[in-house]
Amino acid sequence: WDDLEEALIGADCGMDASMALVEELREEAQHGRIVNRGEIATGLAKAVTREMSAEPPKISIGAGPTVILVVGVNGSGKTTTVGKLAYRLSELGQQVVIGAADTFRAAAIDQLAIWADRSGAQLVRQGPGADPGAVAFDAVASGTARGADVVLIDTAGRLQTQHNLMEELRKVHSVVGKANPDAPHETLLVLDATTGQNGLSQARLFGQTVPLTGVIVTKLDGSAKGGIAVAIHRELGIPVKLVGVGEKLEDLQPFDAAAYAEAIFSPADAG
Ligand code: GDP
Repeated sequence: WDDLEEALIGADCGMDASMALVEELREEAQHGRIVNRGEIATGLAKAVTREMSAEPPKISIGAGPTVILVVGVNGSGKTTTVGKLAYRLSELGQQVVIGAADTFRAAAIDQLAIWADRSGAQLVRQGPGADPGAVAFDAVASGTARGADVVLIDTAGRLQTQHNLMEELRKVHSVVGKANPDAPHETLLVLDATTGQNGLSQARLFGQTVPLTGVIVTKLDGSAKGGIAVAIHRELGIPVKLVGVGEKLEDLQPFDAAAYAEAIFSPADAG
């Protein structure tokens, strides 16, 4: 049981979630439902799956274009994820507009222009340093005027502790609501799996600024297990909707609780 708890903490599930999961499995064992180590792995995968799939990982679709605001700290993978999402949605026949509201980084705008080109999405941009709220508003207005299906808005990276920048994000969120009272339909926090326990603080503080509807865990192709999502779901009730598994446009997948749970505690890592 100690090994198991250690493995869960090592996978970034956090102290509370790890202890609760071990307790749950210990009870199963006491009732004779788990009798050997192999069954612990299966039991754990089931427990995490139950825990993580309380809500189906669907993207809410609204009337008019569905507006998805993408937020997070620097380098978490926001711009890449917006590109991947645009690509995936376009492949599904959706008409996509991308708002380049990360106006701090000229490179982010250029990168988005390339992704938009490759996925056939329309890019709404202004020059570097432009007001991100204005870009977000334009993107929603343009998407509405063109009858687009989805508007994806990339935002600048900011630390959850940077008060001014968090206030700016609050403004972007509210401006989007002025362009369409139902928007944003989704506000997704992009979380780098390798940042470990800090992810919980990111989710908590971003969630206090803008109502988060989901998390996208990126960089799960590396060695990080991304168990932090288990802690976030348990403590804040925010579901994981998508996962990033690489740097290419195709490397975005819908969240699959069972596969995720298995990866957190795959037998190869049990020791
Ligand atoms: P942003 O600052 O949040 O917009 O982050 P970027 O989208 O610029 O991504 C930062 C770095 O992470 C880039 O080098 C991306 O290629 C990389 N990246 C993003 N998502 C993934 C992922 O799922 N897996 C891997 N391996 N790298 C990723």
